[in-house]
Amino acid sequence: MSSAKDQASRRFMEKQAGSLNPEELIRGIQQGERQALARALTLVESENAEHRALAREVIEACLQQANGKTQNSTLRIGITGVPGVGKSSFIERLGLILIGRGYRVAVQAVDPSSEISGGSILGDKTRMEKLSAHAQAFIRPSPARGTLGGVADRTREHILLFEAAGYDLTLIETVGVGQSETAVHGMVDCLLLLLLPGAGDELQGIKRGIVEMADILAVNKSDGDNQQRARNTQRDYQQALHLFPPASEDWTVPVLRCSAITGEGMEELCQTLLNYRDQMQANGSFARRRQSQSAEWLHEAIRDALSEDFYNDPEIARLLAAEETEVQNGSVHPLRAAERLIERFRKKQNADTAL
Ligand code: GDP
Repeated sequence: MSSAKDQASRRFMEKQAGSLNPEELIRGIQQGERQALARALTLVESENAEHRALAREVIEACLQQANGKTQNSTLRIGITGVPGVGKSSFIERLGLILIGRGYRVAVQAVDPSSEISGGSILGDKTRMEKLSAHAQAFIRPSPARGTLGGVADRTREHILLFEAAGYDLTLIETVGVGQSETAVHGMVDCLLLLLLPGAGDELQGIKRGIVEMADILAVNKSDGDNQQRARNTQRDYQQALHLFPPASEDWTVPVLRCSAITGEGMEELCQTLLNYRDQMQANGSFARRRQSQSAEWLHEAIRDALSEDFYNDPEIARLLAAEETEVQNGSVHPLRAAERLIERFRKKQNADTAL
């Protein structure tokens, strides 16, 4: 849950966002104005119909701008791992290295106050202090609402906005709890899984599927007394990966070691990321992955719009409540109830179009 202060500032931002005209906002984003970008990010998250119409215009303009560029000029990286593995420390360190190499870096970070981030367990840690103060970085905490382990349902739009504002590299943080990785995997060019030294999959709370989805693995906290354990973990995962079918024929998933605190292994890790991008671009996998992600986005948008129409229909809502009770009583089978509701919805739609 986000704090009352967060909610108040979000409401303020929404109000501000609503008072802007789209051309002004689009121009601001394209000129890299941080405030315009922040407003647009809030706008696409808004449930308000007016804001959504405005957001659509802004996104449309960003899409046109994106189509004018070569796809290869941007890189989207997902970073995942259990709470406490060091994701925010790692992102801060990696972000600064990337900026040092000439990139502008946007981060969609897990809201530290959200329950799922484990923020409540770890207390008031400062997150990405140096990176957030850097002129070449932009950090956006993802909103608590509608998140899948921190991946907001508007992350795709956010990525577009970051890129329109000139951030050529986006880091998307998610918490390694399962569903969020599948979602983020469908939005990024590369998924990086952070591991803890010395603990097996079960102990780390990592679902097997996530290891299979990752393009790069890194054992973080490979420093001090942890070093030997980190080496063992690295070896264990290297062996385990042999058992998985490779995600890509042209890429052997590496297992690296690093320390977000001392910085050891971080330059090498950054280089591996960039090599991955170069290799995937050269063999066409990069473009293919983005193409299939675009198709998936299309299907998702259709599913979302259809289900929104269905659930927002007042008559359907009434019937649904009644059917739900019957299903719970066992007097109607769920499939039969669904069939009846959809039939009614279709009839209404046909009647609407006949008018
Ligand atoms: P997150 O919950 O995954 O974002 O993890 P944080 O970045 O907040 O880190 C959790 C704790 O681990 C903090 O106390 C960090 O200082 C510590 N930590 C993060 N990275 C490292 C590392 O590379 N080495 C060591 N020794 N500690 C680390």
